[in-house]
Amino acid sequence: MVSDNSASPSSARRLAARWRAGLMRNAAVLTAALGAILLLALLAGRPLLGIGLIVAVLTVAFAGSRPAATRRTAPPAQKLPAPSSADAGRLSAAELSEAIGDPLILCNALGVVMSANRAASAAFGQFMPGDLIALRFRSPEMQALIDSALRGAPSAAIEHAERVPIERSFKVGATMVGGDGRFALFFRDQSETRRIDRMRADFIANASHELRTPLASISGFIETLAGPAKNDPQARERFLAIMQNQTGRMARLIDDLLSLSRLEMKPLAGAESRVDLGDLARQVTVSLSQMIRENGMVLALDLKDAPVPIVANPDEIVQVLENLIENACKYGQSGKRLDISLSTERDEASLTVRDHGPGIPTEHIPRLTERFYRVDVETSRAQKGTGLGLAIVKHILSRHQGRLTIRSAPGEGASFTIHLPLAEDSQT
Ligand code: ADP
Repeated sequence: MVSDNSASPSSARRLAARWRAGLMRNAAVLTAALGAILLLALLAGRPLLGIGLIVAVLTVAFAGSRPAATRRTAPPAQKLPAPSSADAGRLSAAELSEAIGDPLILCNALGVVMSANRAASAAFGQFMPGDLIALRFRSPEMQALIDSALRGAPSAAIEHAERVPIERSFKVGATMVGGDGRFALFFRDQSETRRIDRMRADFIANASHELRTPLASISGFIETLAGPAKNDPQARERFLAIMQNQTGRMARLIDDLLSLSRLEMKPLAGAESRVDLGDLARQVTVSLSQMIRENGMVLALDLKDAPVPIVANPDEIVQVLENLIENACKYGQSGKRLDISLSTERDEASLTVRDHGPGIPTEHIPRLTERFYRVDVETSRAQKGTGLGLAIVKHILSRHQGRLTIRSAPGEGASFTIHLPLAEDSQT
């Protein structure tokens, strides 16, 4: 190998550099040793013997510096045997294709399946020796890909979708192997990427729809005010109030969208500090007391006297508590009561916001934290909801290694509990 070729000028230069490095590292010890030898030789009246000994020590020091330098710069290279093409040859084609993890199918020049790895069998069902590849994949794109592989012609990778047992999509390419007409079909599972693309597209469509509705209403009122209602002061007052309402709705939506995007930009909660969850809950109930009163609700606080310390970004936890308490006021005000309680168990603090309103039908509960998911869109809009509050709650909690549990049944109110890890030194 080139790097081991000590006869080449570059490796000679590297060797010299190593020697220099070794000498620099051992310089202090070496100088002391040489000084001592010289002194003893002079005291003994044998300067020539001293010079001889110095030369011997220098030779040993230089020779010793090379392995030392090699050890420091590349320790694993000394332990591992140098790879050789013979080692690679010991791996069978089957071992290599299993190692890939993506489906891989090898066919002969007639399009008969010769082997398929485990990932291929898992994705497309068992392959039997003698299967014709063209009969296994019927889509026109796959047929065209197989045709060009059989002709030995190169072709670009294609998209292929499988519907059973679950919907998946693959990018598929064909490559000639062995030079005798054999070819390999290799598949890359794109399902996760597609799912994320779809989610992103849905999200943009939902956000645009939510913004377009108030925008359309505002632009309609502007036209009316500029035309038929031009000289109608009463209509103007009414329409301006509606327009203000709609701009407020757009502003709330943009605030929530920005909150979500800020949370997504920073997967870890920043600015964490040790805070008392009970204290945060007290602060939030004070700041929302007017809202709670205006909704005709009576607040019952059951917080612990002793601090319940958590390590968290306090602003984010305040946002979680605000969202849950606002929801209880918006959707549960008919129950007239709002209970907030705090408990601890082992390494976890749990804070529950409970209302006694109409509750939530069971089938909706697992979807409440999805973006823009609402049990009833009109009620949410009437309550100035954006459909993003619980998505933000879930996001913040997962950044804090926490979680949200929701318990509710129609007619029995709803309780939302946040679970957060207690600060380490206060776990019971
Ligand atoms: P929104 O901005 O619409 O309130 P959220 O994400 O905060 O959005 O809540 C999603 C949906 O969950 C709400 O639209 C509502 O249908 C339902 N919901 C949330 N909290 C409650 C509650 N306390 N009682 C009943 N339904 C609730």
